[in-house]
Amino acid sequence: MTRLLLIGPPGAGKGTQAARLAEIYGIPAISTGDIFRSNVKNGTELGTKAKAFMDAGDNVPDSLTNELIRDRLEDADAQDGFLLDGYPRTTDQVRELDSFLASHGAALDAVVELEADPEVVVARLRKRALEQGRSDDTEAVVRHRLEVYSEQTAPLVKIYASRDVLVTIDALGEIDAVTERITEALVERGIAAADTTSR
Ligand code: AMP
Repeated sequence: MTRLLLIGPPGAGKGTQAARLAEIYGIPAISTGDIFRSNVKNGTELGTKAKAFMDAGDNVPDSLTNELIRDRLEDADAQDGFLLDGYPRTTDQVRELDSFLASHGAALDAVVELEADPEVVVARLRKRALEQGRSDDTEAVVRHRLEVYSEQTAPLVKIYASRDVLVTIDALGEIDAVTERITEALVERGIAAADTTSR
């Protein structure tokens, strides 16, 4: 049972690493950004409400986000652990997650911070814009998302550091190398990969 959280600026490679870590630890990767994007794509009421915030590079209001993540964490596949990618993003969301976990007698095992230079992430996101055509990957919106990150999300790093669950990883370099840094740092904290031989 492993409960992890991935935190870092847009473009640090959270989505890529989340998919790999989910596989390694045998837990679902839960990305609020992905959930919002699929709602936008399917034209749901939530998607309609979230779209303008996303396109502007602003956080979707907590009132929409907290309920969504509560529902997702209640799903059967999240009962034996999970990896949250992109949530929590604000101190209010931390409080919300804390109360959710406390009411389930659970706690986070580690918070992995992916650290990356802002100019490098801007360049990465420029490349992703060409490859994936995400509407929030234009240069102006990317810069705004970085500001939103440093104002609203970066303070979370201190909160988790003070709780002694923070692991900071250099997110630059090859994808495999970054994954290895993360798994090694987690082993040091006593968090091992899932035993896939028994599954
Ligand atoms: P991401 O895929 O994590 O970069 O998220 C893309 C966009 O979805 C963000 O810029 C926000 O508009 C929205 N979003 C994702 N996660 C959250 C969250 N936890 N709280 C508020 N907005 C979010």
